[in-house]
Amino acid sequence: MELLTILGATGSIGQSTLAVVRQHPERFTLFALSAHQNVVRMLADCLEFAPRYAVMVDDTAAKTLRHELAQHGCPTQVLSGAKALCEVAAEPEVTTVMAAIVGAAGLLSTLAAVEAGKRVLLANKEALVMSGELFIDKVHCHGAELLPIDSEHNAIFQCLPTTLQQNPGRGCLSDAGVSKILLTGSGGPFRYTPVEQLAAVTPAQAVAHPNWSMGPKISVDSATMMNKGLEYIEARWLFNAAPNQLQVLVHPQSVIHSMVQYSDGSVLAQLGQPDMMTPIAHALAYPARIASGVAPLDFCTLGDLSFMAPDMARYPCLQLAIDACASGQGATTALNAANEAAVAAFLAGKLSFMGIATVNEAVMQQLGSTQVDNLDDIIALDNQARRCAAAEIGKR
Ligand code: NAD
Ligand code: MG
Repeated sequence: MELLTILGATGSIGQSTLAVVRQHPERFTLFALSAHQNVVRMLADCLEFAPRYAVMVDDTAAKTLRHELAQHGCPTQVLSGAKALCEVAAEPEVTTVMAAIVGAAGLLSTLAAVEAGKRVLLANKEALVMSGELFIDKVHCHGAELLPIDSEHNAIFQCLPTTLQQNPGRGCLSDAGVSKILLTGSGGPFRYTPVEQLAAVTPAQAVAHPNWSMGPKISVDSATMMNKGLEYIEARWLFNAAPNQLQVLVHPQSVIHSMVQYSDGSVLAQLGQPDMMTPIAHALAYPARIASGVAPLDFCTLGDLSFMAPDMARYPCLQLAIDACASGQGATTALNAANEAAVAAFLAGKLSFMGIATVNEAVMQQLGSTQVDNLDDIIALDNQARRCAAAEIGKR
């Protein structure tokens, strides 16, 4: 029996994780669920799954939840504050941690799970983008198991040999005969929108992803393709990939979730419905296979699959991320923080869609060559980049 903590349980990935867990009560028990402040969702999940702990980062939300659970006679204990996230991630009894908080807010709790040597299911890509080498070093130092949830990285993982699967961030792709990782992305909702119309798109249009149902931040990142840029950086760390071993491809149908090209000319791909329950079930049960509840692909009705190179004029954020990855850890940390601030401003109606790239670029010009050597440096730079982004947003 696996004892599971879900960080970010009320979000899109958290809910898909619970949907898989619900199908396998004999395999998984919930130790803790966490959320920022969504009491309604958390209450329903506590009543259904009766975890030992529920963490609400927001104190007021924690008080409300405690009251509601008592009314229902539910024994789940409510904790509050960011420190409690690290505690429920590192508790000795816990076997598996789903890291599904969005953004830099998930860094410390994800690292706490790594440092406690857990099986870590990584959805929170921003944590790895921010901390890169330090994250991978901790995985090895503390004997954690790292399984990618991001559909592309989960697909790549599935297409790699076991020796590389079991050596995250440290294996040698070329020794294993891998010539290239082909990272696919749909191109988001504006892939066919004339570039000159992009300045006027609204948050509602940007979060309406054609293929995937996701939280608001990653949906906007998909529209700018910053998501693919963050995934490029994520792949660099997860698979120890050099720039010439990573290629981004636009694949509008989202049927192939990514591919691995081998030196003998073979290409291995992972295909499936665009539903996160597939990678979640894969990682939860790895190396076994369990039902996810996702419908099988029907090749007779699938239609054509197409591929194209990304147009960097349409997706300047993708180029910024690729450049940041080549520059180093300071650049990727600053870019991630700037982008979180810019996306939040766009969603709040304070910045235009193309303004996201402009703000990110301005922050990179100012902070892109900052050196970071440790976690304190990373957190300080993250804060500095957010202040810098706020100033840039204020100018627009
Ligand atoms: P979401 O916005 O739907 O959910 C985010 C979760 O994080 C919620 O439970 C929320 O309560 C919690 N949270 C937010 N701010 C917090 C804070 N300050 N402190 C503690 N908890 C906080 O996001 P999502 O779409 O589920 O994405 C989660 C992560 O998974 C992101 O890093 C995203 O990039 C990644 N991811 C998501 C998908 C997807 O299909 N949704 C696919 C691949 C990767
Ligand atoms: Mg993805």
